[in-house]
Amino acid sequence: MRMSRGFLPTLKEVPAEAQIASHRLMLRAGLIRQTAAGIYAWLPMGLRVLRHIEQVVREEQNAIGAQELLMPTIQSSELWRRSGRYDAYGPEMLRIRDRQDREMLYGPTNEEMITDLVGQTIKSYRELPKTLYHVQWKFRDELRPRFGVMRGREFFMKDAYSFDASYEDAVATYRRMMLAYLRTFQRLGVQAVPMVADTGPIGGNLSHEFLILAPTGESGVFYDAALEEQDWLAEKVDIDDHASLETFFNQVTQSYAATDEMHDQAEWDKVPENRRREGRGIEVGHIFYFGTKYTEGMDISVSGADGAPLYPEMGSYGIGVSRLVAAIIEASHDDAGIIWPASVAPYKAVILNLKPGDKQSDALCEKLYGHAPDALLYDDRNDRPGVKFNDADLMGHPWQMIVGPRGAKEGKVELKHRATGERFDLSVDEALAKVF
Ligand code: ATP
Ligand code: MG
Ligand code: MG
Ligand code: MG
Repeated sequence: MRMSRGFLPTLKEVPAEAQIASHRLMLRAGLIRQTAAGIYAWLPMGLRVLRHIEQVVREEQNAIGAQELLMPTIQSSELWRRSGRYDAYGPEMLRIRDRQDREMLYGPTNEEMITDLVGQTIKSYRELPKTLYHVQWKFRDELRPRFGVMRGREFFMKDAYSFDASYEDAVATYRRMMLAYLRTFQRLGVQAVPMVADTGPIGGNLSHEFLILAPTGESGVFYDAALEEQDWLAEKVDIDDHASLETFFNQVTQSYAATDEMHDQAEWDKVPENRRREGRGIEVGHIFYFGTKYTEGMDISVSGADGAPLYPEMGSYGIGVSRLVAAIIEASHDDAGIIWPASVAPYKAVILNLKPGDKQSDALCEKLYGHAPDALLYDDRNDRPGVKFNDADLMGHPWQMIVGPRGAKEGKVELKHRATGERFDLSVDEALAKVF
């Protein structure tokens, strides 16, 4: 994208309403604009990040055999009456009436709808297991929407739902999902630690929240540093083998990790002192096994091996895709702006033409840009170099390709790495090889 033609509005002043760094930076770098309380428009730069995160999430869901579909945002109250949650959900649910005076709602989550869909279609235990997901907008009328997209009212979530014929299979599905989550967050360049979460009346240990450490997080967190050292992408787990999944799961859960809600001081005291990590965290994902709560509740069964009705065992698995944009910034920024991990960055690099109009500079910039116009941002604006440097740092592109008349004469680009500040004097080919 050529910046002179793009819609990439930056702000110089710090917006007064923004209390935390990610919110300020998302406004200043032109990622989002608020259109109503807790509701945001995603500007081109923000949308690119959102899409990149969504794509990583999608690839890791597909890798464990989950299948993508797309359910609507608007739902009928009828479904929710069947599960008994229509009244129970309370004021967080946005309720709407259509012209026929039917009660509709903007979905805060999709357990009812997916259970009904699967129930209409699947008749035998032989058709199980199934794991389905979508990445879709949700609405929750939060009491206190705040921190920008961190706690919005409308937000973008990946939610997956699993159906298994037995408890053992459901446990394996849960463990597979945990692996997919760990891999997803690692690819996104963030440390999100799985912590035991409340299972309510279901019981057991099959509910985990994934939290990114950040001082502005809403939950207190306590965890063993052993969880920071794992390379989940390298980890060999046979996802079709229950024993292999169990070994993996035990390896994760043997290390202490809990939010303040679930904190157990006696267990915490057993963690060696030098490995205790304590702070605040942002919930970016949540996985939950809840058995037959919805299948039984909505009376949706399949025929079991013995011919008798069988209620599929379910779990649901959410990732806050839009919240992640903010959470990644909370974990990765400095005084000058955002520092995007390469996997989610809106552009791989920005080309800074320090002197538009200078023939050699223009030619060199065009050569760089022509390599991948969709993956590169070209700052071709007639602005002072200082403005360009500031905007590049603010927007957080992983690399800056700096082109001035002196270097251009020799065919040289100065490559700056945003995260480390390292600089390299390179030829066009060398610079492109480093960035791509
Ligand atoms: P929270 O505790 O922050 O209210 P939750 O536990 O209600 O979140 P879940 O129902 O577990 O949320 O939804 C799955 C994920 O969706 C959460 O882990 C979070 O990342 C994201 N999420 C939930 N509510 C919001 C929101 N209001 N704005 C942005 N993301 C959200
Ligand atoms: Mg909530
Ligand atoms: Mg929560
Ligand atoms: Mg949750």
